[in-house]
Amino acid sequence: MKDTNKQSQATGIVVSCSRRNAMVLVPPHALLPARIGSKVLDIVVGDRVKLSREHEHHIIVEVEERTNCLSRTLGPKTKNIVVNLDRLLLVTAVEPLFNTSFVDRVLVVCFLRDIPVTLIVNKCDLGTEETDHLIAAYASVGIDLLLTSALEENGLRYLRPLLDDADLHSIALAGVSGVGKSSILNALIPDAEQRTGSVSWKTGKGTQTTSMAQGYLYTRDHCDDLLIVDLPGIQHFGVSNLQYRQVAESYPEFVALAAGCEYADCRHIAEPACAVLEAVDSGEIAPSRYLSYLGIIDEIDAHKPY
Ligand code: GDP
Ligand code: ZN
Repeated sequence: MKDTNKQSQATGIVVSCSRRNAMVLVPPHALLPARIGSKVLDIVVGDRVKLSREHEHHIIVEVEERTNCLSRTLGPKTKNIVVNLDRLLLVTAVEPLFNTSFVDRVLVVCFLRDIPVTLIVNKCDLGTEETDHLIAAYASVGIDLLLTSALEENGLRYLRPLLDDADLHSIALAGVSGVGKSSILNALIPDAEQRTGSVSWKTGKGTQTTSMAQGYLYTRDHCDDLLIVDLPGIQHFGVSNLQYRQVAESYPEFVALAAGCEYADCRHIAEPACAVLEAVDSGEIAPSRYLSYLGIIDEIDAHKPY
């Protein structure tokens, strides 16, 4: 029998949220402000949700199971950043802004969370010479790479075809501030700010604003719109919750060699007859990659519970 309940239901995707409120995109183009229902524990941008309408208000009453979740952790604090991603565009720039520590931490977490990544090296109009060794290091371990210039005419020519892939529905842009993430987003979606705006709510306690992830719609000719989530420019991407083994397994160039280490549980730090350390010494493994690995191990040690 048909449901005659007065409440109407819709499903949509969260494009921005604060603790109690969210902006939900209901396909194809409706953008609805909604309250987060009392039984819903936690909402993250990218969540697929069910809305219930009560009088003039939309309420999020249910959250679908997530396919993946990008999060960062430092000590006891875990922050979920975005969920249900088909791909992450990890934006960096030519030297001196490359920031291999940030890039490698995000690559490790995406590897462990099954999130495909494309590494974008922006500002290529400034010349790639000083960055070529890093580009080569990532290419040699099979990382998907694109070179862009957000300021040059046609500088996103390698990026645009990727965005036209009909299998992509939801992607995100991550990067430290200054690499040109906003410039890329503005080149892709010129009126991004006006389309969704940054969401704020008037509450009894003043205006509550989002300083977190924000989703925008990228219109495509031959398939549905693509959701592009702009992530905040995080400077430190904490990974202190990881196990040593998980980190080593997320560096493809270590995995290929680790079978040659004398100890099966080798951490590749100071163990004798370590095939990874030998490859670092011989230059086969890029120094920046090994340094970022050590930085992660140090962070794990510093936050170990005793
Ligand atoms: P965000 O902090 O990552 O969002 O970076 P912005 O988009 O605000 O860019 C930071 C600075 O880099 C601005 O001065 C931009 O004009 C500049 N910029 C961004 N993309 C490029 C690029 O491809 N080439 C050059 N030369 N400068 C760029
Ligand atoms: Zn080893």
